[in-house]
Amino acid sequence: MTEKKGIIALIAHDGKKADMVAFAIDNYEILRQYHILATGTTGQMLISKANLEVERMLSGPIGGDAQIAARVAQHEVLAVFFFVDPLGKHPHDPDIQMLLRICNVHDVPLATNAATAQCIIDAFRRDEI
Ligand code: PGA
Repeated sequence: MTEKKGIIALIAHDGKKADMVAFAIDNYEILRQYHILATGTTGQMLISKANLEVERMLSGPIGGDAQIAARVAQHEVLAVFFFVDPLGKHPHDPDIQMLLRICNVHDVPLATNAATAQCIIDAFRRDEI
């Protein structure tokens, strides 16, 4: 296996999973250069539909976001791509807010929508992150 450039995290709420898969397929060549963490269901979709290698955490509602937040807090993660569904209600909202907060505490690049995700990917391409 070739050396990975670092760790990134990919998470998508159910209403945004199709967007995440499209983003992953569009950016496959760059994403495959990184070690990818993902919450359970998002990770399964990235493996089966985008052919990426993924380290799967628990599903978000049972602690996956919290597991990723811990990795961010330990300075292991270069960037977080978290496609949130602003129109949905989420039982694990405290965990979601915690992950967003931890990214801000540690000044880790955080994309909460596809447009911003693409900006971060473009920065990866230029080796700026
Ligand atoms: P999932 O979790 O990838 O397991 O669906 C995402 C979330 O809802 O935080």
